[in-house]
Amino acid sequence: MKTPFVTKEQMETVAAQYPTPFHIYDERGIRQNARRLRAAFSWNPGYREYFAVKATPTPAILRLLKEEGCGCDCSSLTELLMSERCGVTGEGIMFSSNETPAEEFLLADRLGAVINLDDITMVDFLERAIGRIPETICCRYNPGGVFTLGQSHEGFQVMDNPGQAKYGMTRPQIAEAFRRLAEKGAKRFGIHAFLASNTLSNEYYPILARTLFRLAVELKRETGIAVSFINLSGGIGIPYQPEQNENNIELIGQGVRQAFEEILVPAGMGDVALYTELGRYMLAPYGHLITRVTHEKHIYKEYIGVDACACNLMRPAMYGAYHHITVLGKEKAALDHVYDVVGALCENNDKFAIDRILPRIELGDLLAIHDTGAHGHAMGYNYNGKLRSAELLLKENGEVELIRRAETVEDYFATLVW
Ligand SMILES: *Cc1c(COP(=O)(O)O)cnc(C)c1O
Repeated sequence: MKTPFVTKEQMETVAAQYPTPFHIYDERGIRQNARRLRAAFSWNPGYREYFAVKATPTPAILRLLKEEGCGCDCSSLTELLMSERCGVTGEGIMFSSNETPAEEFLLADRLGAVINLDDITMVDFLERAIGRIPETICCRYNPGGVFTLGQSHEGFQVMDNPGQAKYGMTRPQIAEAFRRLAEKGAKRFGIHAFLASNTLSNEYYPILARTLFRLAVELKRETGIAVSFINLSGGIGIPYQPEQNENNIELIGQGVRQAFEEILVPAGMGDVALYTELGRYMLAPYGHLITRVTHEKHIYKEYIGVDACACNLMRPAMYGAYHHITVLGKEKAALDHVYDVVGALCENNDKFAIDRILPRIELGDLLAIHDTGAHGHAMGYNYNGKLRSAELLLKENGEVELIRRAETVEDYFATLVW
């Protein structure tokens, strides 16, 4: 069962002021979740979550997470500038980019961000870009092959395919990068890897941690360099489907701790700080896209037309992703209809749901599309001249605050040359 964090009455009131569609975020849920995460890793004194800004690049969200102790994981110039304007600078920023323009390294360096090098060629590129190698530096590792959860009676459960991913350095390259960075003046090192996305398993982080902890011990032996921090990056998933189980963050923290005590502590590396760069886990469940039913169409299938479209939430069109839908005010009604819920784009993949079992929908109903807090508004675009929606924050005191206004036609026209 998925229950929305808003009611129909509440959203009708909000919609009278801020027309649909809009994204709305739940401050209480975001804060409680961030606190659970922090508690799960509190055994590691240097622990820090760097929120993956790309998931929800909105200042009110970054500031709220800053209050909960999070830094920012940035991957572009704009994200760096947004973090700076939210008061997150220095080691509060992790800059994990790839195919990075020189000017972005310059800005990251000026802000004092921790730079995470995606490739060994970036050692020379970074040195040319900023005129030196920073004292603190991180390298991204890619072990290749396929990432599995280990052997069960059903065989290996493949989680992802690092061997096909464009990111990170090979095993020989990361040792070589460490040596060259040390020669050029680096003093504090970290390693990073992102091997699977949207994982629904309490084993992902512990297995990734084992890989990185062993790597850290090997690198110390091979290069004499002991890392100061290890970044487990993103990848903890959320149950988009109502029948899926959510991850247990306490168990995940304990699994990582066990690996830490088995591998790093005996190697004399018990002072390593752990970092995470979660995006989806931090925000996705705490956002809804609220949209109004504007049309119905009865042809070869039953279609419900809404005022949002893939420009407001691209994941169903792009990945065939499931997003749960609640018809507000009909939470208890019988699920006795089958609909395709569609937006207005001139693209046949503009469907929020296909053959979805829902209560009977009427014109004017408000739908809450679930789990849109991450990679929702952030992936918005302007195809068909669609304008990006507003973003609202449902505060802990029940008030609703506008945190990004909706685009206007003037915004869309602003870059045009007439
Ligand atoms: C996207 C991304 C993240 C966040 O990933 P989630 O799956 O949202 O947790 C973290 N780190 C890097 C480098 C990323 O590109």
